[in-house]
Amino acid sequence: MAKRDYYDILGIDKNASAAEIKKAYRKMALKYHPDKNPDDKEAETKFKEAAEAYEVLSNADKKSRYDQFGHQAFDGAGGFGGGSMNMDDIFSQFGDIFGGAFGGGGGFSGFGGGFGGGGQRRMKGSNLRIRVKLSLEEIANGVEKKVKVRRKVQASGTTYRTCPTCNGSGQVTRVTNTILGRMQTATTCNTCGGAGQTIDKKPNDADAQGLIVKEETVSIKIPAGVVDGMQLKVTGKGNDALGNGISGDLLVAIEEENHATLQREGDNLHYDLYISLPDAVLGTSKEIDTVTGKVRIKIEAGVQSGKILRLRGKGIPSINGYGKGDLLVHVNVWTPKTLNKQQKDFFESNKEDEHFAPKPESSDKSFFEKVKDMFS
Ligand SMILES: [Zn+2]
Repeated sequence: MAKRDYYDILGIDKNASAAEIKKAYRKMALKYHPDKNPDDKEAETKFKEAAEAYEVLSNADKKSRYDQFGHQAFDGAGGFGGGSMNMDDIFSQFGDIFGGAFGGGGGFSGFGGGFGGGGQRRMKGSNLRIRVKLSLEEIANGVEKKVKVRRKVQASGTTYRTCPTCNGSGQVTRVTNTILGRMQTATTCNTCGGAGQTIDKKPNDADAQGLIVKEETVSIKIPAGVVDGMQLKVTGKGNDALGNGISGDLLVAIEEENHATLQREGDNLHYDLYISLPDAVLGTSKEIDTVTGKVRIKIEAGVQSGKILRLRGKGIPSINGYGKGDLLVHVNVWTPKTLNKQQKDFFESNKEDEHFAPKPESSDKSFFEKVKDMFS
């Protein structure tokens, strides 16, 4: 099934302001909120769809990539950005947008269960968030980072038992008399908070859910081509849940460090190369920084300042796995500010010489010049 346009989902046009996007999302989220539409699969789908659209459109970087590439911007990058969000992510990320319109807020209570086709409710532990700083080289090549995370885990010695109030269903049925007759409503069990299980035994240092904080080293595989602000998910490395619940996720925000000589622009890189006047006149070769080490490039005699040399494939790999960006070397000819007498005389005597008169040719104006087979 083709994915719907994010702007269509939120019912806004492409020029909508950040405030309008937020307002539109809030409206959709309230309309399709699971508390208002219990056991309504279609509402659940719409609710998730709206959250996904908002996740992308509320983030300047993701929005600009979506505006440029559409859904393709996030394809093949499983677990990234506009990927499938689960309910827990939605509430932990955007819970504040409901502004107290619903009880429970974020975290566990009330949510998490009820979705996925009835049966046993399984609570999900809360997500943890960390930031990881990456150098441009790490981003270009992909990297595995080991980080220390303090996560809540089930303390050894903690045992759980089926909740006696709800018999493990996590819900209690209440019968109320209304003018329309007797009505049955299912509400979250107060004894277990919906988990279906309660603590049987726990060590003294464990919290009310039988959890203790433990430092753990988590290994995070970061694919090549990630972008500053992007979020990766390590499934199950957030906080544990009570009893047989499933662990939350570790959400990893990517932070890109500035590089000393290379500037990134999407998948392309830019490098400012300064050469002397004699080098520009006579030609030379220069070492250039790249994300895979230094390479030597040839500069033709008579190169013009402002020339851009394109090193194909020397940029950043696309996060979608399709190809690589280029490295664009901007040639700047350095004009000396001081000269000795002899040098000054040389230029004075050549002021009117035809060799020094500018003669722009179309080839000098062509913006890019390919550099090929020049690496040595
Ligand atoms: Zn219960």
